[in-house]
Amino acid sequence: MENFFVESPENGGLGEKKFRAKQVLQWIHQRGESDFSAMSNLAKNLRQILIEKTQISLPPIIKNHLSDDNSRKFLFDVGNHNAVESVYIPEKTRGTLCISTQVGCILDCAFCSTGKQGFHRNLSTAEIIGQLWQVKKYLQDFQNFHENSQKIFERKQISNVVLMGMGEPLLNFDATISALNLMLDDNAYGLSRRRVTVSTAGVVPQIYKLAEQCPVALAISLHAPSDDLRNFLVPLNKKYPLKELFAACQYYLQFAPRDFITLEYTLINNINDQENHAKELVKLVKKYNIYCKFNLIPFNPFDAVDFQAPTAKNILKFSQILQDAGFITTIRKTRGDDILAACGQLAGQVKDKTARTARLQNNLQNSKNLQNLQSKKITIFHNKQSHKNKENT
Ligand code: SAH
Repeated sequence: MENFFVESPENGGLGEKKFRAKQVLQWIHQRGESDFSAMSNLAKNLRQILIEKTQISLPPIIKNHLSDDNSRKFLFDVGNHNAVESVYIPEKTRGTLCISTQVGCILDCAFCSTGKQGFHRNLSTAEIIGQLWQVKKYLQDFQNFHENSQKIFERKQISNVVLMGMGEPLLNFDATISALNLMLDDNAYGLSRRRVTVSTAGVVPQIYKLAEQCPVALAISLHAPSDDLRNFLVPLNKKYPLKELFAACQYYLQFAPRDFITLEYTLINNINDQENHAKELVKLVKKYNIYCKFNLIPFNPFDAVDFQAPTAKNILKFSQILQDAGFITTIRKTRGDDILAACGQLAGQVKDKTARTARLQNNLQNSKNLQNLQSKKITIFHNKQSHKNKENT
């Protein structure tokens, strides 16, 4: 965006001062302003030029649902009858937004519903950051910002962001990095690196790149204590087996904002939730000497697969073995499962994709629903003259 402002008009830029780019960044991402004409500290003619040459556009919210446990799922239209989802999870001490990075997913983990719908495309930076913008707007979370750039000392509603929605963030690397940079930028969302988490199934080369380019908190979707079992549950393991994955984790820890990596482990009844799996897991992590915390996720059943949720007894036993071995272990509360917003259930009933698409079309045509849509189009900041997909965020 800065380049676009400072480049001369002959080169397709605006020929403006650098700080103007910062002002626009602040208006959009700090104050939640999507109308150039309201950006009062910009000269009137600059506002007019921005209106003519650029576009602020956002993925429209198709609908949102509140779960019994207060988590709220947002469904976004990303064109071509595709939708992605974000889930807002409010807790006593923090509010977490879980966002998507791809439409569908190529990895096809055995227990994940997103994988069952196949891969459609990467989201752009604007579509990734646009989920955060839209939910912040919905929650009136931009209002904590004062005219004179002083933050009101109110708790932010969205204090944490996790890239744990649909898709594999590290397979959409460039757009993800740009979106992360905006989340961290003090002139934009100003989140600390410790409060932004990338979750990956283990794309090893990109873990190294993330360490070097934008180290944020890292979560690895482990799910199995051995290569054999992991090959079955997370097919990506055949390409990047545990030894390589843990070597990448070791490297990452030198750059990480936290001194541990979170290991996510989805417990599936009789598949990976037995005592021997927990003991093997302890051995594995000790062998590679990785500082980690465990996050156990009880499997959320959905129609397209035969797996079952683990029993409460097995969850507790599994967790106890890890804790007895000295590991901090949390059991993720299943949130939002009444609205299919729980882990692996995002963008819902994939078994019936045609019906889902038809429903989406219906929603879009339904004028009543349309009243709820934000009318702006897709990218957050977009030079109308530049290449269609080239963004200036
Ligand atoms: N591709 C990334 C992020 C998306 S998945 C990754 O693999 O980490 C986010 C988390 O939800 C992962 O740990 C994933 O394994 C877990 N998950 C997916 N489907 C699930 C299901 N049906 N039940 C419980 N957890 C699931």
